[in-house]
Amino acid sequence: MARSSDAQNTHAAAPVKQAARVAQKLAHKLACADALAAGRGLALTTLRRQVYTLIAQSERPVGAYELLAALEPQRGRVPPTTVYRVLDFLVEHGFVHRIESKNAFFACCQMGEPHQSQFLMCDACGETVEIPGDALAAQLSKSAPAHGFEVHHQVVELSGLCAACKRAHA
Ligand SMILES: [Zn+2]
Ligand SMILES: [Zn+2]
Repeated sequence: MARSSDAQNTHAAAPVKQAARVAQKLAHKLACADALAAGRGLALTTLRRQVYTLIAQSERPVGAYELLAALEPQRGRVPPTTVYRVLDFLVEHGFVHRIESKNAFFACCQMGEPHQSQFLMCDACGETVEIPGDALAAQLSKSAPAHGFEVHHQVVELSGLCAACKRAHA
């Protein structure tokens, strides 16, 4: 328990100038999302954009109920089925990835390009990093037929400690 509170304190004390960088990164992601939607003729409605923004500004995967709570001040109570439909849309069109082990959602770092990814996830603070890499995915699915197995869906999620938490626990 002490481990995770230490980690959170470390993050709370992060320099304020980081906030500007985070805002810049979010603006970039939103611009990419708008470009992807425009390029594919997809309607990024206000609610879809709000849900995407909440996911994109988080350094860790965000669950549906967390999203519902975060949306409430902006939109009042949104029915969970509505948010699930928005999440399905965002996943289907590659705006976000579903993090299976956490039943949560994380903004894609390579929107609009078909890719397989691995995810590094910190056990202490939850920070998640997407590592796009088709080679590993291809290698994994290549070994499946040897076992008579047909792959439909592939997820590689690695858990451990991020650099900041590793330093905090050293
Ligand atoms: Zn991605
Ligand atoms: Zn961490």
